[in-house]
Amino acid sequence: MTPVRLLRGVGAARAKALEEHGLQTAGDLLWFFPYRYEDRRHPVRVADLGHHLDEPVLLRGRIISAHSKISPVKRLRIFEAVLEDESGAVKLVWFNQPFLADQIGRGDRLALFGAPRLSSHGPLQIESPDWEKFEGGEEGAIVPIYSKVANIPPKALRQMVLQALECLPALEDPLPERIREALHVGPLGAALEQLHRPAELSEDFLRRRSPAHRRIILQEFFTFQLALRVRRATETVTRKRRSIRIDDTLRAEVRKVLPFKLTKAQRRVMKEIAEDLQSERPMVRLLQGDVGSGKTIVALIAALIAIRNGHQAALLAPTEILVEQHYQRIGQLLDGSVVLARATGSATAGERRTLLAGLRDGYIQLVVGTHALLEERVTFQSLALAIVDEQHRFGVEQRQRLFAKGDTPDILVMTATPIPRSLALAMYGDLELSVIDELPPGRQAIRTAVRTSAQLEKIYQFLDDQIAEGAQVYIVHPIIEESEKLNLKPLKHGFEAIRERFPERRVAMMHGRMSAADKEATMQRVQAGEIDILVSTTVIEVGIDVPNASIMLIVDADRFGLSQLHQLRGRVGRGARKSYCILVSDKEKERLDVFAATRDGFEVAERDLELRGPGEFLGTRQSGVPRFRFANIVRDQELMERARDAAIDFITNEGVAPAEELVRRIAGLEPATAARD
Ligand code: ADP
Ligand code: MG
Repeated sequence: MTPVRLLRGVGAARAKALEEHGLQTAGDLLWFFPYRYEDRRHPVRVADLGHHLDEPVLLRGRIISAHSKISPVKRLRIFEAVLEDESGAVKLVWFNQPFLADQIGRGDRLALFGAPRLSSHGPLQIESPDWEKFEGGEEGAIVPIYSKVANIPPKALRQMVLQALECLPALEDPLPERIREALHVGPLGAALEQLHRPAELSEDFLRRRSPAHRRIILQEFFTFQLALRVRRATETVTRKRRSIRIDDTLRAEVRKVLPFKLTKAQRRVMKEIAEDLQSERPMVRLLQGDVGSGKTIVALIAALIAIRNGHQAALLAPTEILVEQHYQRIGQLLDGSVVLARATGSATAGERRTLLAGLRDGYIQLVVGTHALLEERVTFQSLALAIVDEQHRFGVEQRQRLFAKGDTPDILVMTATPIPRSLALAMYGDLELSVIDELPPGRQAIRTAVRTSAQLEKIYQFLDDQIAEGAQVYIVHPIIEESEKLNLKPLKHGFEAIRERFPERRVAMMHGRMSAADKEATMQRVQAGEIDILVSTTVIEVGIDVPNASIMLIVDADRFGLSQLHQLRGRVGRGARKSYCILVSDKEKERLDVFAATRDGFEVAERDLELRGPGEFLGTRQSGVPRFRFANIVRDQELMERARDAAIDFITNEGVAPAEELVRRIAGLEPATAARD
């Protein structure tokens, strides 16, 4: 492909700027898509602005005055200009962009895009419009607007892309006809042409649902799915060298361990996992289930299968509290029939030595631990199964470290954040998926209410009545535990206020900066019913199980994501007591009302994903989410499924090598770093 340097209008400086932007060749420019379009065929006349109040429109005219000033009231730096066309003049105002004084001056011809508003003193004005100088020549066209590349003028950039479009006839379509048919998409050239030089701006086009957009989306989805499958196919070369058998003795033991009847969903998932354990191919399975759906027992049975076949199993949990809880529960269930140990950062040197030796020589059969288990000196005699609980706190890299500790151990990743199917497919197209979509019988519905801070006293009265009847209460403050510099002041204030308001009640506080031993002691007191109100941060978010705790009060609830609220809500409603989740907030009532009306975790997650986008949804630490150009993983879920089917088809019919070759060809065609939105 032609290097950008050889395009007309590109000198050394511009070539460097383009290259730094990931745009090396004319071909790369084809993948540099406009982020919006301006329909310059129909500018609005200044005299008609009154008909377009608060609606962004295109204007064209000449600047007749321009100056900077400082607003006396808020000390804002303001740049003002007046634009005139043949029908009249209108004031333009920009805030805190003093550099505009060097860029816009009297006599300039501008095209601008903005919404006319009534200013406080009457006349219409346009605040902070997008603007561009123009010399004519592009009038009467639909103009693509590209994100800025250094200081290359937008018009020059457009001309470069137009030159690149001249290469289209020579461009080879990476998707063979047969795949295009399977995906229901047209040729690439036509799509690229449409995206850079649309003939019309239809509704579909503006919503990024046009055939041209779908072509790009499906190509990306298809490549992504195919790449995952290629990786998977090439990985399966490593067969497991152990054989796992499930006989009647083992079945009887499992029945003995079970304190209850498994739900239908649990049994189905159990069967899927058992089959994986017995297969030659290493398992990588995502186990999804709403809070309280009973994932732990399923994992425990899987561990028992590995152990009775002479191997070891490890369970990783994100916090020491959870490790402790699992350790206690599992200890009770197994009742000494398995050698169980725990690994946390707070172990003494002696304990650690015993642990390391026990894992290395295989004496310890099941270990429950935090990330302390990932340390290099931890080795296993024969790790056959690694279970990761509450996966969203663990990164991909940590999972790999775990993998390296065994001889191709099977991996079961449990997530209590019900990742919507669409996102799971996008992120884990190479993982098998098991879903527990049924709660154990007899669960109480949790009543969720949204209240304002003005109603706090009434809420407190309610808490007091409930505590008098024996209930326990969590009060959670929005202090994000993952941040490095934790400001605990609001929590401490909250704690003091509660202590004052409830002098007769036993109130405790908990947060992530307390020592593990203190946290554990606090949780144990809660569990033993010695605490009436626990004021806490989100440390209690995941997994904690206290059946008698029946009220979850969330302060400033608007500051949490919906999925996180759902996790918190899942901390109550675990026993016989009628349970409540009370969200206190003076903002975002609508969003919180949606949450209050939704019980199903998957539905909450879909909503959350829509509202926040996948990056936010999974937290910044999770970098495994691929970015796509135009795709919206929620909206385009069905396209992802179509792409996956086509990818499976291709690799099945054509084989792994051609699939790998195709992935490479497509990847070579698209610049990796070109601006995406
Ligand atoms: P999660 O999926 O959120 O990790 P847990 O595994 O902690 O859920 O299970 C929640 C609670 O439900 C636990 O107290 C567990 O003992 C109980 N439980 C799990 N499965 C069943 C079942 N089939 N019948 C009754 N109770 C169950
Ligand atoms: Mg759990």
